Amino acid sequence: MMHKFYMKFVLDRPAKPNDSGEFELEDLEIHFSEDSQRFIHNAEIRIAVCHRFIKLCSSMSPKLEAELSKMPYRDFLDTDYWAYLRDYVVMSRGMRCEACHHNVGLLRDSLELHHISYDHRGSEWRHMEDLKVLCRVCHAQEYR
Ligand SMILES: [Zn+2]
Repeated sequence: MMHKFYMKFVLDRPAKPNDSGEFELEDLEIHFSEDSQRFIHNAEIRIAVCHRFIKLCSSMSPKLEAELSKMPYRDFLDTDYWAYLRDYVVMSRGMRCEACHHNVGLLRDSLELHHISYDHRGSEWRHMEDLKVLCRVCHAQEYR
């Protein structure tokens, strides 16, 4: 089956499972914010992040989501699922802390993904409203 992907700035539209329990990805739209383009000058990196995210979405299944949701949290944070989702969410939201709005140009080290809710652990990729991009300082304050 062919999937269409658009690289433009649009809102996340979470995929929902169909009647047979599979995810329909035709409507998945990939986007960058203007800031991402400013902070990641290398277009190949931006495309690589999107490609990994698309591959991740294509590989997701209700069974895999269930496994992820039951995994010890430490192990969960080490999964490719979390790494690829994280890079995509951070990039699509403009590479900035959503609390203090500090811009950080580095992809992996300085910005973290905070769970506003753990209700959809393992299926965050279609519940991105559960996630917030925070710098380390703001993330630490969330748990104080
Ligand atoms: Zn911050």
